[in-house]
Amino acid sequence: MNAIRTTPPRPLDVTAIFPRLAPMARPAMRLHPRPGVPSVHESSAGGPLLWPADEPWPHCDKTHQGGEEALARLRLEQRIRANKAMHPDGDHPVPQHTPEEQAVLDRLNSEETWLDDSWLDAPVALLPVAQLYMRDIPILRPPVQTGADLLQVLWCPLEHFPEQHMPKTVAVIWRSAAAVTDILVTPPEAPVVTKGYVPEPCVLAPEQITEYPNLMELSKELQNQIRDGSIWQTKIAAVDSSYAPYPESFYHDHLSVAPGWKVGGWPQWGYTDPVPRDCSTCGTPMEPLLSVDSREWDSSTISWIPDEEQADASLNPCDPDLANPTTIQIADNHKLQIYFCPAAPEHPHMELMQ
Ligand SMILES: [Zn+2]
Ligand SMILES: [Zn+2]
Repeated sequence: MNAIRTTPPRPLDVTAIFPRLAPMARPAMRLHPRPGVPSVHESSAGGPLLWPADEPWPHCDKTHQGGEEALARLRLEQRIRANKAMHPDGDHPVPQHTPEEQAVLDRLNSEETWLDDSWLDAPVALLPVAQLYMRDIPILRPPVQTGADLLQVLWCPLEHFPEQHMPKTVAVIWRSAAAVTDILVTPPEAPVVTKGYVPEPCVLAPEQITEYPNLMELSKELQNQIRDGSIWQTKIAAVDSSYAPYPESFYHDHLSVAPGWKVGGWPQWGYTDPVPRDCSTCGTPMEPLLSVDSREWDSSTISWIPDEEQADASLNPCDPDLANPTTIQIADNHKLQIYFCPAAPEHPHMELMQ
């Protein structure tokens, strides 16, 4: 981690207006991923994992829709961007393909592959999505009595058939960082991928904030109070008059759930209404673990742009280089939410797209 990102104070203190929200406050940690060159010893999005050399790498054996991009090509493009960022004067050797990448590209481009591409149907190596050390994200809750202090999340980088538009085969792995002594240097990679499922390698700048539930998770009475503009219309109008007729939108966009990659907090809803999320093993209501978002803000959530980036974003707030540094694209600017069982984090997780 080499930067700080600071979420501006919320435009209104929502618990001062609706004290019944106060007990529902939950901590979340916005991750603020930004392109960089993370090591296996750092928290990252799309960076290399601290993985034991003698532990099998997870693969997906489901039926896939053909990939659209050679991962080797995307990897080289990523390294060239990182090289440019680190050496803006340009006097540094341009990255080249690794021998492993070149071998895959040669095979993809070979005449044999045009005649027989059955090797592309082999189980697909999962792709690193996030690596989170507890020292950086202390609100993580690992399984008890395991000594785990490192969470690793991987997913299948290909569309599944017939379920499309959402990454599948999500692996959630807890481990003790100190127990990994012999580190896997060259993990297997899928030959072809869905481009939007490959995060740009990013370092993180975790920041703890407080969230309140999405309107749809509140009691009907509280929902009605928030929709009733007369109670707080004047307060909203003083902040942004365009929201005065839509107090529930103001609550949604600026006061309740943060956009972007984050750990914990409350889930955002909108693609669907809230759905039951009970643990398949013990029935305990599951809680948000990690949200992987296709953007950190959009035109309706610019109040969440960190202080440090307000100036850069002032001309074009929705510039994808600023608003979506990971380049992740899930369906149409949606997010993947991973849930865990708070009673026993080792119980199976679940995912939803929102
Ligand atoms: Zn798969
Ligand atoms: Zn459970």
